[in-house]
Amino acid sequence: MKIIIHGGFFSESDQSHEVKVAKQNSLKEIAKKAYQYLETHSAFETVAYAVSLLEDDELYNAGTGSQIQSDGIIRMSAAMMDGETQKMSGVINIRDVKNPILVAKYLMKEDDRVLGGNGAKKYASEHGFENYSTEIPQRRKEYVAKLNNGGKGTVGCVAIDREGKLAVATSTGGKGFELPGRISDSATVAGNYANEFCAVSCTGVGEDIVSNATATKIVTRVTDGMDLEEAFSKTFTELKKIDGFAGAIAIDQSGNLYHKDSHPTMVFASFDGENFESFK
Ligand code: ASP
Repeated sequence: MKIIIHGGFFSESDQSHEVKVAKQNSLKEIAKKAYQYLETHSAFETVAYAVSLLEDDELYNAGTGSQIQSDGIIRMSAAMMDGETQKMSGVINIRDVKNPILVAKYLMKEDDRVLGGNGAKKYASEHGFENYSTEIPQRRKEYVAKLNNGGKGTVGCVAIDREGKLAVATSTGGKGFELPGRISDSATVAGNYANEFCAVSCTGVGEDIVSNATATKIVTRVTDGMDLEEAFSKTFTELKKIDGFAGAIAIDQSGNLYHKDSHPTMVFASFDGENFESFK
């Protein structure tokens, strides 16, 4: 059993030391809580739980605390993928729900598993997800001051459970200041992908992640025999060629965790019951 989570990026130039320490503490607490949950739940249940905790923390650009788009509205995207069934479900540009990841999870049992915009919100309302504003005063202040901190707080989780099953979940408020209608990578197979061999969650510039097909490439390479290190190295070398900006977390079927060779400023934490590792 192992778990790895990410919370986007931390940049010394536009975020304070206090924010860094707060993110380190929050990731530690959430990684440990999610691990405890994994002791009695599947990887699939656990990644949704972990991402819902990250969404509830205002420090991150997902759920509560999501960034505001250019027209003053928050639209969020989230997706889940179960490595065992290889099914993906998600919401794209959903408004006014507390936990987009839980709507994505709820959709897993439907034939139509990825819903966007008004359809996603209507589905959520009809299935008991209450109207909830995820706006916080700090994001409105940044929006009014036309400050865009670059979407540096998308969240994600990858877990392997005691049966060796893998799952992934990713959730975002987007890049910040984007044109209404812009599609994030987080609810696509480029940003969130899993099968029985490997599971990957990405963060970074969605356009770059989609152009590079980052999560899908890493999972496919591991499926075809590369180890995580080689798969990351090849995929991120290709990303560099298009001047792309992204980070990723992964676990393979043997329980190897990986985050290196993606992006040095990505914030992450992992826990396996004994060893805890996080960004410095
Ligand atoms: N990938 C997200 C997006 O482009 C943003 C992020 O990860 O920071 O919507």
